[in-house]
Amino acid sequence: MAGLRSVCLPVVGVLAVREDTRRLRRMIRTGRAHIRYATVSCRAGRWTVTLTVEAADLHPARQHPARPDADSSGGWVGVDRGLAALVVAADITGREVARVDDVPRPLRTALPRLRRLSRQVSRRQRGSRHRAEAVARLGRAHLRVANIRRHFLHEVANWLVKTHDRLALETLHTAGLLRNRRLAAAISDAGWADLARIIGYKQRWRGGQATAAPRWYPSTKMCSACRTVGPALPLSVRIFRCQTCGHEADRDVNAAVNLAGWVEQHHARTRDPEVRGPVTNASRGDGSGQRPRAGETSPDDGGTLPPRTPVTAGTPEKGGVS
Ligand SMILES: [Zn+2]
Repeated sequence: MAGLRSVCLPVVGVLAVREDTRRLRRMIRTGRAHIRYATVSCRAGRWTVTLTVEAADLHPARQHPARPDADSSGGWVGVDRGLAALVVAADITGREVARVDDVPRPLRTALPRLRRLSRQVSRRQRGSRHRAEAVARLGRAHLRVANIRRHFLHEVANWLVKTHDRLALETLHTAGLLRNRRLAAAISDAGWADLARIIGYKQRWRGGQATAAPRWYPSTKMCSACRTVGPALPLSVRIFRCQTCGHEADRDVNAAVNLAGWVEQHHARTRDPEVRGPVTNASRGDGSGQRPRAGETSPDDGGTLPPRTPVTAGTPEKGGVS
């Protein structure tokens, strides 16, 4: 019997799955979705059925209202990968509109556990059953971290695209970022490109726009009030102070305002901006003097959890049913 938590595959037959498939079944029944193909995979001992679905457009009530043609500029919100926060968003007027302070606790606590598990692996004798078990435990722990991290990025992205129809993202210089060993920073580094990608397609679903400022854009060093580019800010400096006009702002907010300002200035050239694929693809030693901002986000900063936003109902994306 095909229950609500089952998937029926050709040849294989009916499989019991973890996730409730009710919404997808309803969409298929009403012709709003068609399953294109299913992929079965096994990672760290856990089987996953991924259904790739072609679905109807998001309901207009869930989309951003279309802007009149006259309103071709303005309304952009800059999204900066902050120093003290994972994400800081601000509009051109300097108003902070969003801040995601910290990564979820399970991610922060995961690193010591991963280290312990990998030590266990190396202590076990090669080829032994104990070693195989330790390897499996380590794999499961890694998978769990990856899942939590992905879920978190989706929450942040959902929250941003639901509340703002025009997002200007910081472009991250990715070369060398993986050298960073601190968890929050590593998540922030590795997460940023993912986050930009997720924001890009979610924003398209909603009829909004997302774009990325060029990598060399001095969002951190520039005064958001008078646009004077000052010297680079040391990591310890949390408040941006302009030497020219005396403007003062939170460092991350200043950068976010500049990102919003960049799009508003260059809008003619970015009529149909989209974030596509990985945001940067800078190779090592490409000679651009910009240093990656690795290590700027500290796990000790902030302390509040990110906004708990439920994943929106609507068009299902490529979703795993495990
Ligand atoms: Zn200034």
